[in-house]
Amino acid sequence: MRWTQTLISTLRDAPQDAEIPSHKLMIRASLIMKLGGGLYTFLPLGLKALRKVERIVREEMDRAGALEVLMPALQPREIWDQSGRYEVLRDGMFKIRDRQDREMVLGPTHEEVITDLAARQINSYRQLPKTFYQIQTKFRDEIRPRFGLMRAKEFSMKDAYSFDVSWEAADASYQAMYDAYVRIFARCGLATKVVEADTGAMGGNFSHEFMVLADAGEDGLAECEGCTYAANLERAERATPARDPETTPQHPEAVVTPGKKTIEEVSAFLKLTPDRLIKTLIYLANGKPIAVLVPGDRDLNEHKLARALGGVTLQMADDQTIAKVTGAPVGFSGPVGLKIPVYADLDLKTPRVAAVGANVADTHLRNVLLNRDASVTEFYDLVIVREGDACPRCGKRLREKRGIEVGHVFKLGTKYSKTFDAGYLDADGNRQISVMGCYGIGVTRTLQAIIEQSHDANGIIWPLSVAPYQVCLVVPNTQHAESVRVAEDFLKTLEAQGVDVLFDDRDERPGVKFKDADLLGIPIRVVVSERSLADGKVEIKLRTEADKKMIPLADAVAFVESIIRGEK
Ligand SMILES: [Zn+2]
Repeated sequence: MRWTQTLISTLRDAPQDAEIPSHKLMIRASLIMKLGGGLYTFLPLGLKALRKVERIVREEMDRAGALEVLMPALQPREIWDQSGRYEVLRDGMFKIRDRQDREMVLGPTHEEVITDLAARQINSYRQLPKTFYQIQTKFRDEIRPRFGLMRAKEFSMKDAYSFDVSWEAADASYQAMYDAYVRIFARCGLATKVVEADTGAMGGNFSHEFMVLADAGEDGLAECEGCTYAANLERAERATPARDPETTPQHPEAVVTPGKKTIEEVSAFLKLTPDRLIKTLIYLANGKPIAVLVPGDRDLNEHKLARALGGVTLQMADDQTIAKVTGAPVGFSGPVGLKIPVYADLDLKTPRVAAVGANVADTHLRNVLLNRDASVTEFYDLVIVREGDACPRCGKRLREKRGIEVGHVFKLGTKYSKTFDAGYLDADGNRQISVMGCYGIGVTRTLQAIIEQSHDANGIIWPLSVAPYQVCLVVPNTQHAESVRVAEDFLKTLEAQGVDVLFDDRDERPGVKFKDADLLGIPIRVVVSERSLADGKVEIKLRTEADKKMIPLADAVAFVESIIRGEK
């Protein structure tokens, strides 16, 4: 392809709303163009790279035995009511009406549609196992779309769904997808970290996320310095710190704390460090009030709380509910004398002398011992893990990292197959329910994550496997006929071998061409100049290396091909 015949408009500066390196580079290198908030057009260069990521995904899905289908993005509301997820996801979905005033949604995911497909297409155990996949556009009404393709309103995903006769068989399907994901990301040149993850609105039993470590990542994760334990912060557990039990002969003493509501305010006022306070939070669990206690210097992890209570739906209690169950306004709740279930973090199980809200306006209680002065229904690990906590597996130190989630595999179980009656007749003719798994890869997000992980001050550094062009052919002086003739020969020969070549045939200064080649991140740069040809050579430089090589003209094509085959 000749530069003058395609559409590449590189920019010196990134637009103001581009905050992270990959977003800036995608715009500057003319891969994508913004249409509106969270909406992007793929320009020819970006689309070429995207298609290569898609091809890798498709090849590995096919290799793993998954069957490609294509489901509608436009879905009737009824199937979302049937699964009960319309209410769960409603604010995050684009909802529209057709001319008959029927409500439809633009699919943010396809569990409902695929389970309906399986319910109607699969009848016998002989048809199982089956894994279906598609590469398709998804829609999410993001509150704050940002970071380019990382959090867009419209994006491309590969989603796959497995159906099996049993939980054991479902494990095999899960593992097959897990292994395929490892291969996909490796082929995309991405280093990923696999972490245990929360299942959230998807439901199901366990799941893993494939994370690309990056400071700009929106997900927090914890990894152990001593073993392989790694988990999303939503999920991460900690070993409960060992401490000596405390006691005091003194009894709870009311202290007037006028207007002091937050941990910081109370801590400063009572001259107690935050870990000497116990935070009392009032929630509604499936609509019923509960109290949750965590050490004053820690934050509650709602995901862990919801899971500990058997997958309840949690809501922070409103001011009225708090006044009703505690008898005091917000900010003065405490566990002493509460008549609702009280759940506390495991760290509080070892008695410690602490201060708590008194359930009286403008008042706290000092010298409280939880085991003596209050009744706790149950202790669980409930706080958000932080750097320095102990690993739940080996006790060594946990480190905090940021990551970009590019893939997610879930073992779903029978949540959807039960609802949609997706089952089969077993060998004895009895009706059974299929066990499901679901597996997603953010295809457009993966493309951007590759850039986030692989760039330098000069631009993108594409891995060969997904680079829009593998070779950038530069003729510094297009007035030199011999250089142009050799370059055109080169272009023709390499393209005939199936190599993607971009020939910079612009009438531009050499410096501009070299700068653009670096910005575009094309892995192999071949320079044909009057000077190199005088020695019968061309100059070949890899984007990943500083050194140039002078290669005899006759060997140049073979040399480039050997780099592409991974031999050089
Ligand atoms: Zn560990």
